[in-house]
Amino acid sequence: MLSENDSKRIQSIIDVVMKVARGDNSVQAPMSDKYDQIDALAMGVNMMIDDLAVKEETDKENEHIKKLNAELEIAKQKAEESDRLKMAFLANMSHEIRTPMNGILGFADILKNNILSGEQQKEYIEIIEKSGNRLLDIINDIVDISRIEANIISPNITRVNINEQLDHLYLFFKQEAEEKQLSFLLNKGLAEEFASTYTDSGKLYAILTNLVKNAIKYTKAGIIEFGYTLTNGFGSPELKFYVSDTGIGIPSQEVNSVFDRFTRSKEVEKNALEGTGLGLAISKAYVELLHGKIWVESTKGSGSVFYFTLPYLNAEQVASSATVRPKTDEVKEKVDTFKVMVVEDDPTSEQLLKLLLQKLTTNLIFARNGKEAIELFKNNPDTSLILMDISLPVMTGDKAIKEIRKINTEVPIIAQTAFGLEGDRQKFIDVGATDYLKKPIIKDELTKMVKKYTRSVSVQG
Ligand code: ADP
Repeated sequence: MLSENDSKRIQSIIDVVMKVARGDNSVQAPMSDKYDQIDALAMGVNMMIDDLAVKEETDKENEHIKKLNAELEIAKQKAEESDRLKMAFLANMSHEIRTPMNGILGFADILKNNILSGEQQKEYIEIIEKSGNRLLDIINDIVDISRIEANIISPNITRVNINEQLDHLYLFFKQEAEEKQLSFLLNKGLAEEFASTYTDSGKLYAILTNLVKNAIKYTKAGIIEFGYTLTNGFGSPELKFYVSDTGIGIPSQEVNSVFDRFTRSKEVEKNALEGTGLGLAISKAYVELLHGKIWVESTKGSGSVFYFTLPYLNAEQVASSATVRPKTDEVKEKVDTFKVMVVEDDPTSEQLLKLLLQKLTTNLIFARNGKEAIELFKNNPDTSLILMDISLPVMTGDKAIKEIRKINTEVPIIAQTAFGLEGDRQKFIDVGATDYLKKPIIKDELTKMVKKYTRSVSVQG
């Protein structure tokens, strides 16, 4: 028979075992100093509890290691994917830059070394021009995505007539669509007097250009339609734009990733179609900057519809002032009574400006740096307009503008740069320029601007 004391000791051990069974490993079975069989039992239980605690700790550690491994695997996959994208981007970019560059250099060489008919010359020059424009598009895309990544883009909000923008875009792409024998349709959702909103015109144009360009590029036959409707987005009116095509479509598993930078669908990559995988990433960033959303609905093999929304702002105010337009068109076509000063250090750019300006006036004077420009202006106080490059040796264009403004506050000065950065226009106006032109100089933009600022001169003349 057990004594009452021994019975209590055994009960205490049983209590401890029960606690352990419920998951509490912090307990220990009590021991006496008798070192009898009951103590041996308690010691055994305690050893078992210690083993259990160690095992639990190991299990926990293993679990932690497993979790870390899984996280590591995901990070590794991400790094590999990013590496793959970077490599694909570099290979693609190198191809994208080399192809037009080869066109430019190759045909320039043919033009230089061969006697060609006028027709051939024209054809080759057109190829050079097209290649140059393609190269410029790529450079613009890279600059845009870098600006987005550096977080230095901000919207430049003005009143924008959307119908005018869409008409312009339609005319711009019509020929390209027709060359591929695609039906090209435009649907303007609002009557002219309501078709204005407050947004960033340049960015809206860039978004639509990317989407329409893609629609044409990724469609072999059928219809491309673009346009917009006015909808009610969560109580406030929204413009819902769309660009639909009957092209190659996007597989469902790739539908979301096409908006990521440098990402192109597998099929597009496989077929080495022209492009950098930046257009949609830029478009998405612009749409979000303008408080809208962008998405795509697509079926592989039968086509895609890209949508984006923008807030429809200040409708009444816009409607009442939509018809006000500058009257620059009334200017006479050709005038040769005004003197234009061109300040340009690069001989090729100078030559180009000379060619373009000669159509408007024969009275041209030239300076190669800011200092020369000031001297030349002092000797030609009858100058009607100054075209001032900004990156100049000896004295930069902005400093020269400041100096000229000390002598004359009236003469129109048009600043030009090749940087084309956000906020440039305001920066140069702040130092005294009247307006700003981005390089490369486009003939129509230059003509428009020269006519605008020499209007009073031409009317008198
Ligand atoms: P890019 O056209 O230069 O490759 P984008 O960023 O404009 O780059 O487009 C990313 C990818 O999305 C394209 O490579 C293509 O796989 C897919 N995509 C875009 N637009 C269309 C479209 N209209 N139809 C089918 N796929 C498209």
